[in-house]
Amino acid sequence: MVRKIGILTSGGDAPGMNAAIRAVTRVALNNGIEMVGIHDGYKGLLEGNFEPLKKTSVSDILARGGTFLGSARLPEFKNEDVRLKCVDNLNNQGIEALVVIGGDGSYRGALELTKMGINCIGLPGTIDNDIPGTDFTIGFDTALRTCVENVDKLRDTSSSHHRASIVEVMGNRCGDLAVYTGICCGAEMVITPETGYDEVEVMERLHYLDAAARKNHAIIIVTEKICDVEALAKKVSQNTGFSGRATVLGHIQRGGSPSPTDRMLASRMGEKAVDLLMEGIGGHCVGIINNEITSLPIEQALEKPRTPRKKFYRLFENLV
Ligand code: ADP
Repeated sequence: MVRKIGILTSGGDAPGMNAAIRAVTRVALNNGIEMVGIHDGYKGLLEGNFEPLKKTSVSDILARGGTFLGSARLPEFKNEDVRLKCVDNLNNQGIEALVVIGGDGSYRGALELTKMGINCIGLPGTIDNDIPGTDFTIGFDTALRTCVENVDKLRDTSSSHHRASIVEVMGNRCGDLAVYTGICCGAEMVITPETGYDEVEVMERLHYLDAAARKNHAIIIVTEKICDVEALAKKVSQNTGFSGRATVLGHIQRGGSPSPTDRMLASRMGEKAVDLLMEGIGGHCVGIINNEITSLPIEQALEKPRTPRKKFYRLFENLV
């Protein structure tokens, strides 16, 4: 039976990470397991930046965005000698297992540590919803809420000025945040890694919306890293009847108090992580599939291609 569990957050932060830390801590303590918080991800693991967690250590964090443990990146964690030092630090503290909250990079680190004798469980923490092995990641719902609130506001002002608003949202290489925002906000177009990007098509469609459909605004939601939205906005102004304006929502998408859905997800996933470690299981990641909390080996999850959200693209097409 596991006696002491460490927990860290790694990679980009996401609303709901605190809720997950709280859940893991409370469930473990209630089962007589000691908890240790590790500050700043794998960097803190290397530097021995540890803090024993009591029940009260995680009071008042449920509703707070970000992660009170801090997050960092440590590229050197890919080197075995660096990981060996981390394993030493864990052994010296009597920490037998670890919960890692982060993205697929963090999962890879967790898998390597498991192979070195420290059972690790990965929890999907990112607003991008780009992690295989789960329908939703912790933070996605809150980020979606932020996107929807902001695009609704842009729509008001776009209508007054006959504008085409081009809004860049996050998502890394995953179009979920864009297509969900598109559906929730009644956008005229979404451009994601799944749809591909064709500038001529965008101009033709805007021309149609302006000249034939007589729309007084157009909203285009674009996943980051696909095109330069400022340059696209300029071309829209030059080539269509709309005045093109670009908005990059940026890091506000990463902040804010987690939504009830994210708090539930983080709490359920946190409980599952402790259950797995109590069963002596390591090298797994937790997911939610059809509203059931599940787990599968990290290796299997990382091999799986993420299934594109075909049904949501179809719904989007049916609504514009
Ligand atoms: P995310 O977890 O959000 O995908 P990163 O890809 O930056 O973010 O990964 C976070 C951290 O995980 C890295 O800084 C590194 O310490 C660790 N990591 C990433 N890839 C590997 C790997 N292949 N092997 C070991 N550790 C890794």
